[in-house]
Amino acid sequence: MMNAQEMPSYLGRMPVRKFRSWLRCIEGCSPTYPLDSALYRCPICGGLLEVRHDLEALRQRSPQEWMKLFDDRYKRTVWPYGSGVWGKKEWVAPEVDDDNVVSLDEGGTNLFWAERYGRELGLDDLWVKMCGNSHTGSFKDLGMTVLVSVVNQMIRQGTRPIRAVVCASTGDTSASLAAYCAVAGIPAVVLLPNNKVSTAQMVQPLANGATVLALDTDFDGCMAIVQRLAEEPGIYLANSVNPLRLEGQKTISIEIVQQFDWEVPDWVIIPGGNLGNVSALGEGFLMMYELGLITRLPRIAVAQAAAANPLYLSYLRGFEGGLQPVVAGPTLATAIRIGNPVSYPRAVRILKRFDGVVEQATEDELSQAAARADLAGLFCDPHTGVALAVLEKLVARGTIQPGQRVIVISTANGLKFPEFKIRYHEGTLPGVRPLLANRPIELPAEYDAVRRAIFG
Ligand SMILES: *Cc1c(COP(=O)(O)O)cnc(C)c1O
Ligand SMILES: [Zn+2]
Repeated sequence: MMNAQEMPSYLGRMPVRKFRSWLRCIEGCSPTYPLDSALYRCPICGGLLEVRHDLEALRQRSPQEWMKLFDDRYKRTVWPYGSGVWGKKEWVAPEVDDDNVVSLDEGGTNLFWAERYGRELGLDDLWVKMCGNSHTGSFKDLGMTVLVSVVNQMIRQGTRPIRAVVCASTGDTSASLAAYCAVAGIPAVVLLPNNKVSTAQMVQPLANGATVLALDTDFDGCMAIVQRLAEEPGIYLANSVNPLRLEGQKTISIEIVQQFDWEVPDWVIIPGGNLGNVSALGEGFLMMYELGLITRLPRIAVAQAAAANPLYLSYLRGFEGGLQPVVAGPTLATAIRIGNPVSYPRAVRILKRFDGVVEQATEDELSQAAARADLAGLFCDPHTGVALAVLEKLVARGTIQPGQRVIVISTANGLKFPEFKIRYHEGTLPGVRPLLANRPIELPAEYDAVRRAIFG
């Protein structure tokens, strides 16, 4: 066998045992299923499914070899390994052929050192992972590339007829699904709660040619309908109940650690709605831990909007009695306006394993935190605002200590939410005191007037 140095670095050493992954019930039912089964729930108990990998096969490479391989590929040019997701392909979806990958160069997003904002809070090691700097402006691209690639492979290999890929969405999932399907030429159908997504989020799937169904309900109502739709022949479900999405999303944690030269942070704070993202975040850390790339785990904090806080309420009960769904009220953080989160059981497992906490933020708190961070150079969407408001609370309470390294996951690009920004600075957001509002100064085109406005 050749050693790693003799092989092109993007391939690495060829394993004796083939890399493999499969679907399994998270409740422990014994059958396993191929990744392209088009199954979303355990046929035996109805529990959620997860993707498992052959860790013995992955252990054929040492932790150092994996780190070197991932570093060699990172943001480089060999298709599709320059993508932050596909650079970790063996850990994500080894069965997908490179030719079937539908990638828009996801991942590889910058870590913003929030130096001035952090200092205001007494933190000098605060970082914001800018997952919204992505093709469709949210972290959803990380998971969607994997799901649509698997569908693309099913179609090309003739595994099963696919008439359309469908999802219910609070805006970002549908934008991402529509874009990846448009690239691959696969029909997409998206169900959105009418008048509950931003204008930009509504326009994205329309522009990409998806069939957009705006339903007179909320996200949970759309989800109930889409789950039935997924039982129709030829319809494939793209919501994060489908664990393929989580396989791409889990590269967030691998990438964060990689960006710190494989050092583990002390805290990761992440906004949570349907709770797929926090589950994936945890799975990424656990996989690195099991394969020896890291030797400890960070703590995780999930941030919820107070108007849509079923996980927070369950956390206060010590997770006793399981999830009690709520009717999610209006919030600026529309992408997490979810009262009955599908991935609740996954998220609880992760929170228990990572000594996790859950905290909530009001509309005023999320708006203020976003504005404060914007003054130090960010341009926060409301969901990142929720995460930052929770950060501020955890620091004030002493749960997060000065000197700790903290990563806040910014899930979307602020440019997708112009109404949020404009109305904050106009002072027209209900229930929000615009303490940091900055208004344009309207003047005649006269030098003296300009000079007076600047120098007083
Ligand atoms: C989807 C989304 C979330 C929440 O992720 P979940 O997996 O549903 O918990 C947070 N922020 C933004 C911007 C999103 O699009
Ligand atoms: Zn089961």
